[in-house]
Amino acid sequence: MRIGVPKEIKNNEFRVGLTPDSVHEITAHGHEVFVETNAGAGIGASDANYEVSGAKILATAQEIFDAAEMIIKVKEPQAVERAMLRPHHILFTYLHLAPDEAQTADLVKSGATCIAYETVVDSQGGLPLLVPMSQVAGRLSVTAGAKCLEKINGGSGVLVGGVPGVEPAKVVVIGGGVVGSHAITMALGLGADVTVLDRNTQVLSNLSQTFGSALKTVYSTKAALEKQVLAADIVVGAVLVAGAAAPKLVTAEMISKMKPGSVVVDVAIDQGGCFETSKATTHSEPTYIVDEVVHYCVANMPGAVPRTSTYALNNATLPFALALADKGAKKALLDDANFLPGLNVHQGKVTCEAVATALGYDY
Ligand code: NAD
Repeated sequence: MRIGVPKEIKNNEFRVGLTPDSVHEITAHGHEVFVETNAGAGIGASDANYEVSGAKILATAQEIFDAAEMIIKVKEPQAVERAMLRPHHILFTYLHLAPDEAQTADLVKSGATCIAYETVVDSQGGLPLLVPMSQVAGRLSVTAGAKCLEKINGGSGVLVGGVPGVEPAKVVVIGGGVVGSHAITMALGLGADVTVLDRNTQVLSNLSQTFGSALKTVYSTKAALEKQVLAADIVVGAVLVAGAAAPKLVTAEMISKMKPGSVVVDVAIDQGGCFETSKATTHSEPTYIVDEVVHYCVANMPGAVPRTSTYALNNATLPFALALADKGAKKALLDDANFLPGLNVHQGKVTCEAVATALGYDY
């Protein structure tokens, strides 16, 4: 199959659909890969790196779309990219169609086969192509929080790990799923005093087994949550209620009672946030202060580390990309009941129930 990788054009997006290593795997399967010039610049991969891996470099996105049968990207296609999609194309990327009427209409009109990373499932009902980005965001949440604790950034001036003879910071993680468990790994690694709250006792048991007595686990009631939040130096918000906006677990009143210079990192901000005082921020202005509490609420945290994020994403997407290339879309999707839910739009029809329901399409 002929596979195309255009340079990402969404504002501040530095990731890329395929790494040179992935290109090498795909070409070793006998496929051709076309990469737009400079597509890998944001992850430190040069055109020469891609050429060594077997890719052919093309000058423009139009040439990529003209040459390829399958387009592999990271972000949803922007309007100019959608205009280049044709019925013979397979598009494999994050789409997030439910809140995006204009994109959905264009993909339907294109006649292309559009497969979304975020709706591929695994045998436990998890979302394996979202997991890598949650891992990255979870790990980043603690380093971001640590930076915010510095005095110059409005923080209380506490070093997360302390030093011998001086107490470390108290890090409280709300939600012990993928983001939460990776935040815990980092916080414990830095030497913090770490507590996790979750409403799922099985999650708490698993975390307790994984991290042992270094981690304090607390069942998340309103009272327990308030007690932990008021004592914290850093609170990481990492809850998810599938298919719903994040619950506002930490009220504005609790924030006003937190220690001056403490920090909240609202990773769940992409679902509306779990602190009442949260509003989405960007990497160029990541923080703001409410009641002397520093708020970090960046909605696309993995964008800060495009190199790690791209490699992590490719580890998860490559097997699916290879299946599409080796078998063609129809067989690859029908052979794998976990992959099939990834199909969002096909030959002018919305094929994902959630998207169809949200936007009023026949399903
Ligand atoms: P997950 O499903 O793996 O974990 C969520 C956890 O929250 C679960 O263990 C669940 O039991 C717990 N939970 C739900 N309600 C709770 C409550 N009331 N109190 C305590 N715990 C509760 O989800 P995840 O992959 O860890 O993602 C967490 C959030 O981070 C999601 O909103 C996701 O979209 C977001 N996220 C944001 C970024 C970013 O850049 N900002 C990046 C990746 C993920």
